[in-house]
Amino acid sequence: MDEVVYDTRMRRYSRFVWGMHYLRTRFPTMSVTSWGRSPAHNKGLPGSDPASQHLEWTAADVVFDPGTEPEHGTLVAAAREVGIEVQKEADHTHLELVTGWLP
Ligand SMILES: [Zn+2]
Repeated sequence: MDEVVYDTRMRRYSRFVWGMHYLRTRFPTMSVTSWGRSPAHNKGLPGSDPASQHLEWTAADVVFDPGTEPEHGTLVAAAREVGIEVQKEADHTHLELVTGWLP
C-alpha cells in the first residue's frame, strides 16, 4: 500500500476512534456489537454492502442498555460534532465516519 493511501486510512481510522470515544463518554450506556470486518465475514452477512466502512474499520454497530437509547436527533447531533453519521437499523444503530471526511 502506498504511503499516502496508508496515511489517509490511518487518519480516517484515528478520527473515527476518537469520535467513538467522544460518543461513548457522552452516552455511557452504549455498547459496540460489530466493528471491523474481514471481507469474508462482511460478505457472509445478510444484505451486506461490499463497500461497507466496516471493512475499513471506520464503522461500528451499537446498541444501548434497555430504556436508555437517546433520542435519534440527539445522537445524530452529537455524532455530527465528531464527523460520524448515524443510520438507524432494525436491531442496532450503525455509526460511520462521514464519507467525505479527509484529514
Ligand atoms: Zn453497520
